[in-house]
Amino acid sequence: MSDRPESESRKLLGRLRDAMAGNVAGQARLDEITSLIAGSMGCEVCSIYLFRDAETLELCATKGLNKEAVHHTRMKMGEGLVGRVAKLRAMVNTPDAPAEKGFRYMPETGEEIYSSFLGVPIQRLGEALGVLVVQSKAAREFSADEVYALEVVAMVLAEMTELGAFVGEGAAMSARHSQPVMFRGTVGQEGAAEGHVWLHEPRVVVTNPIADDPQKELVRLSEAVEQLRVGVDRMLQIAGRQDKEQLQVLEAYRMFANSKGWMRRMEEDISNGLSAEAAVEKEQSTARARMSQVTDSYLRERLSDLDDLSNRLLRILTGQGSDTGAELPADPILIARNIGPAELLEYGRSLKGIVLEEGSVGSHAAVVARALAIPLVVHASGVTTEALNGDHIMVDGEQGIAHLRPDETVVSAFRDKIAMLAAAQERYASIRDKPAVTKNNQTISLQMNAGLMADLPSLPTSGAEGVGLFRTELQFLVRNQMPRRSELVALYARVLDAAQGKRVVFRTLDIGSDKVLPYMKPNDEPNPALGWRAIRVGLDKPGIMRMQLQALIRAANGRPLTVMFPFVAQMEEYTEARRLMDKTLAAEARLGHVLPEKIEVGAMLETPSLAFAPVKFFEDVDFLSIGGNDLKQFFFAADRENERVRRRYDTLNVSFLSLVERIVERCEQTGTAVSFCGEDAGRPIEALCFAAIGLRTLSMRPASIGPVKSLLRRCDLDEVRTVIANARHRGEMSVRPAIMDWLREQG
Ligand code: PEP
Ligand code: MG
Repeated sequence: MSDRPESESRKLLGRLRDAMAGNVAGQARLDEITSLIAGSMGCEVCSIYLFRDAETLELCATKGLNKEAVHHTRMKMGEGLVGRVAKLRAMVNTPDAPAEKGFRYMPETGEEIYSSFLGVPIQRLGEALGVLVVQSKAAREFSADEVYALEVVAMVLAEMTELGAFVGEGAAMSARHSQPVMFRGTVGQEGAAEGHVWLHEPRVVVTNPIADDPQKELVRLSEAVEQLRVGVDRMLQIAGRQDKEQLQVLEAYRMFANSKGWMRRMEEDISNGLSAEAAVEKEQSTARARMSQVTDSYLRERLSDLDDLSNRLLRILTGQGSDTGAELPADPILIARNIGPAELLEYGRSLKGIVLEEGSVGSHAAVVARALAIPLVVHASGVTTEALNGDHIMVDGEQGIAHLRPDETVVSAFRDKIAMLAAAQERYASIRDKPAVTKNNQTISLQMNAGLMADLPSLPTSGAEGVGLFRTELQFLVRNQMPRRSELVALYARVLDAAQGKRVVFRTLDIGSDKVLPYMKPNDEPNPALGWRAIRVGLDKPGIMRMQLQALIRAANGRPLTVMFPFVAQMEEYTEARRLMDKTLAAEARLGHVLPEKIEVGAMLETPSLAFAPVKFFEDVDFLSIGGNDLKQFFFAADRENERVRRRYDTLNVSFLSLVERIVERCEQTGTAVSFCGEDAGRPIEALCFAAIGLRTLSMRPASIGPVKSLLRRCDLDEVRTVIANARHRGEMSVRPAIMDWLREQG
């Protein structure tokens, strides 16, 4: 880099700092800044556009364009050259702006006389805040040094915007993080909660973007990087050799921490006038902007490692971060990009709600949130950048919506909703001890799904008749090493104790696909959902399955035991697993352990193939449980974790209902007990249809038992059957609309 822009940009930053220190505020301050930039870049025009809302940019200040256009000229993301800079988060540098594709002429600004255009994004940590533009009459392309200088200034503007330095009359200039924002995500766990933001990883606030003394900043940076390197080396020493994934991440950290390029760029930023933390953020922002463009998953992961590392460095430099000393607010609502199940369990029931930027409905965090009955919204894009610790927030787990800093109308509507939900809960509580008997006198057994000790208190409070599905893998997933057999014995015994004689269906380990044990070597499979998972692993590596069966037998200690094998795709898999169970029982007896007084061994029906298994299979199994989550994904060939396709196929699609009916018929013919334990069993309309087509046992999340029971008790299944038959007769694709109409008629 040549000397000129280096000193120019430093000089400019020095003047900016003076402008910031002066008494002027809001609009006047912004105007002064545009004059300063235009003057020092030798351009006739400098303009600042800020986001008014997520999609609209507003001209907030200008030197050179018509003043009347300020707060009037607006453009959408992607519109014109300014919109393009915002959308692509990349600069546009052209000597002939009107000739550029996409150029949009804004008559009110009087910009037609300016030929050259340079626009750079104003962004903070990958979050677009606006666009900074310089223009001049002379047709010239701006040099790399000038581009760099403008980027440095944009970085400082981003920090100032973040700090609310330009609060003024325009909506776009209101303080950041002060306006109401609604996030539309996906339902992770139903329920509604009101509380205050608790950021799992608090944002670091940079209060001094401009360096007073570059030499001092360089020393600060180098000391912080040294501290970072030592920390990474220490983490590498502590990390278990076995955990390849963790090692890979730490190696990447070390590589970046020692990267000359990274260091050189930050030092350059400092020499150009930025403070050490602003320099770290500038490089972090660039990496984040790249991350949003990169599709290669390996590269994305490495960029996200760099992002983590930059956060660590920022925490060292600012002394902020996890140990900010902040206290958990009253009614905390946890906000995070993502969170692991173990971390979530640590927070436990202290949380009122959870909003995740990423996450997924089937993630382990979601499973824990459900166990703890905490309302959860996932895929709330942008929430970690918008929310600040302590912000007022309302989580609508029913709709998958979070209202951050809600205004009064939202607050009162939301409180009404909470009251309504509470009233519904009271209604459900009043029928808790009553059976789910339909109007035509059919009793349906409602059971609950569980997987953690934290679930068990729901057994008496939900009115569940038993645990229809105990997902044993969750205990394996929330740990960082394989549990020992003795630990499992103790755990399963506690589960059976807590169930107080109610039946608990233990499903053996269902790992693989999305359930990857952190301490097991990951398999590189092209299609994990169709790969080596569940019973396939259990049969190929019988050691773990045997250990688990032993633990279950010992935990039962003479009490009845119910075991179910997951993901059975053909009869032989069940036969082989059952043989292993019989052998284990015999061996346990030889060792002097008391055997269960009664033992039932069942299978999960999760692949369409099993519905067509030989009749002998249905005769051999003690019971079947339909795992609708997987069954549906394989039936429709639609990934249950893929938001894009997940909702495309309705469970009440007549094809899927016919498959379930076939299974029920087979079970009736062979006298085999059958239940349904996928998520759909907990959705009242679906549950009603399942009951109508002959399912007599449904297992669901504890919170769903009340709503399902309430609907079943009000309906006549004969009538529901007629509605389904008529819809089919009319050739409808799904019976849902017909059922909904009928329910409406019933009031
Ligand atoms: C299912 O597939 O429906 C099921 C209950 O199992 P899981 O959701 O644990 O895969
Ligand atoms: Mg399954």
